[in-house]
Amino acid sequence: MSITSNIANIRKQIPQQIKLVCVSKFHPDDAIVEAYNAGERVFGESKVQEMTSKYERLPKDIEWHFIGHLQSNKVKYIVPYVSLIHGVDSEKLLVEIDKQAHKAGRIVNCLLQVHIATEETKFGFDETELLDFCQNNRIKNYPNVQICGLMGMATFCSDKNIIESEFKQLKNIFEKLKSVYFVQNQSFDQLSMGMSDDFSIAIECGSTMVRIGSSIFGSRIYN
Ligand SMILES: *Cc1c(COP(=O)(O)O)cnc(C)c1O
Repeated sequence: MSITSNIANIRKQIPQQIKLVCVSKFHPDDAIVEAYNAGERVFGESKVQEMTSKYERLPKDIEWHFIGHLQSNKVKYIVPYVSLIHGVDSEKLLVEIDKQAHKAGRIVNCLLQVHIATEETKFGFDETELLDFCQNNRIKNYPNVQICGLMGMATFCSDKNIIESEFKQLKNIFEKLKSVYFVQNQSFDQLSMGMSDDFSIAIECGSTMVRIGSSIFGSRIYN
């Protein structure tokens, strides 16, 4: 199967209004170019250096999404060009993104990552921390950051019921924040959930943005 036909196949399975992030991490430039030629413009990367060098080499109308765990000391490298940072998992990181965005003279779009999985290794705010953050309107401390919604990852497992209940939980948190704390903020409208193995469940549960890697580009070779 080619990247082009994989994309056609994925596109058939996701409604038009859902945003597709093609997760190109660990794949070479020519794979991205093939997806680009098939019409894709949104690519997701999880390493700062890899994303930045791809940004420099590849067409400038690509929207680069950072989907990995972002370290504060690397924020400055992506802030000048990144379209959306999916995995904001601490207030310390928000402080740094705001600072660097101010320096770069731009507003940086971010999603707050919520910890919904049972694995301890996954990152993100838990619901209590998130409510505390919103209740006290600490968002106003970061005027150079635009919070566009939430992102989450389900537990890595084959049990559809577990995945579904975690996605539903995230959707509930999203709706609660949207209706209580972000009523005035039209930009809070994205719920990033769903990957190659679970995007159909995610869409049923209200995802607005799916992040798909291996079903488009094949398996990754980590080095
Ligand atoms: C790698 C990655 C993906 C893509 O995973 P696939 O299973 O290859 O589709 C999606 N989201 C995040 C956060 C990732 O790190």
